Amino acid sequence: MVASNRVIVVGAGPVGLCLALALAQRDVLVNLIETLSDDNFLDQVPRAGSNHPATLELFDQIGLYDKLEPRGIVAPKFHYWDRQDGMLIAEFDHALLKDDTRFPFVLQCERIKIIEEALGMAKAHPLIDVRMATTLTSFQQAAKRVTARATNATGETEVLDGAYIVSCEGARSIVRKDSGIEFEGFTYPERTLNIEVAYDFRKHGYTERNYISDPVEYSNLFHWKGPPDRWRIHFPTDPNEDEAALTRPAAMQARLKRFLPLDRDFEICGCNLYAVHQRVAQKFRVGRAILAGDSAHVNSPIGGMGLNSGVHDAFNLADKLARILHGEASEDELDRYERQRRHVAVQHTQAQTIRNKRLLAERDPAVRRRNHDELRRTAETPELARKFLLRTSLIDSLREAEQIA
Ligand SMILES: Cc1cc2nc3c(=O)[nH]c(=O)nc-3n(C[C@H](O)[C@H](O)[C@H](O)COP(=O)(O)OP(=O)(O)OC[C@H]3O[C@@H](n4cnc5c(N)ncnc54)[C@H](O)[C@@H]3O)c2cc1C
Repeated sequence: MVASNRVIVVGAGPVGLCLALALAQRDVLVNLIETLSDDNFLDQVPRAGSNHPATLELFDQIGLYDKLEPRGIVAPKFHYWDRQDGMLIAEFDHALLKDDTRFPFVLQCERIKIIEEALGMAKAHPLIDVRMATTLTSFQQAAKRVTARATNATGETEVLDGAYIVSCEGARSIVRKDSGIEFEGFTYPERTLNIEVAYDFRKHGYTERNYISDPVEYSNLFHWKGPPDRWRIHFPTDPNEDEAALTRPAAMQARLKRFLPLDRDFEICGCNLYAVHQRVAQKFRVGRAILAGDSAHVNSPIGGMGLNSGVHDAFNLADKLARILHGEASEDELDRYERQRRHVAVQHTQAQTIRNKRLLAERDPAVRRRNHDELRRTAETPELARKFLLRTSLIDSLREAEQIA
């Protein structure tokens, strides 16, 4: 295969790594560049980690699932709680999806573990040239090729040639900005505070994944495998309070004890504060430059859909690029990629995550009661619960995208 059939993948996040591995599995040469170096690659802030059934099937296609399962927690169930009266509203069990997927559960496995395993696989693959400490600075397109400029670890400029460039750079994508593509949407005024604690919340009836509604302070609570095991709890914050005040140990202890009264301090293992955006790129492709993952769409983490839908972009695109490069399909396939994945980003990921937040943060008592009654009814009726799970586990979005010509 000649170098002009190479795909330049920018960013070794979960999306870039899955794309590189899926392309290489289909005999496509890949140049994967990552701005972080081997020394600081694993020092990234904690993010994502609820991997839904549809994503687990894709991980399995590239041999990644077997590496992740021992490092994660198999979580078949998730809960909705009402913090105001301390009641469990509804429990959903992925076992209802046993005829829809080989993986009727969520795997709680953090982004950092996913990229550590996937990077090891990419480095070992003969068709993937991984360049760490290499940052894309600009790119140009010609009729049949793309030229990317990148700065390497020694500060030199490298020029990379390929047939296509795929931006898996995350939300700040240079490819998206340089292509003049609008990132349409909005940013919530309040930031989210994520506190990690070593405390087993299962003693209080919680399961591995919990969505907790409250008119004052809704939250999410998730269990992560150690050692030592940790639980992450996410709280909305006052936009007028600064980071230092929000992350003072005494302030975090007070917040945690309001959530769950304890006669001693919680063991806090870490914290971080992040802004929440709901944005979708107006286009996912300009000629030979293509966007995937967070460079194309960002959303609230409530529901755990960002990484998952980005990985779905990666596999959809890998299949199309491989067929185009092997002469089995025309470039029009890339327009279909945009139609399918942009539809999912707008109609599923954005719509669902906006709904999730609204549901948890609802203040009107009558609407809260109606929402909770509906959730209860849905969870208690197997056919409704299965439909609900098909949507939350992203199986629906994949099936719907397949129908888009
Ligand atoms: C607190 C939190 C919790 C979340 N929880 C979930 C969850 O449970 N489930 C879920 O599905 N999603 C979740 N998400 C979202 C998820 O983290 C992102 O959607 C996902 O990481 C996006 O993957 P990506 O590969 O597109 O981009 P990223 O993970 O951002 O990776 C981008 C990579 O590109 C590299 N890079 C950037 N610019 C350049 C450049 N110019 N040159 C070379 N390399 C570059 C970066 O160093 C990085 O390695 C969460 C997000 C947050 C903030």
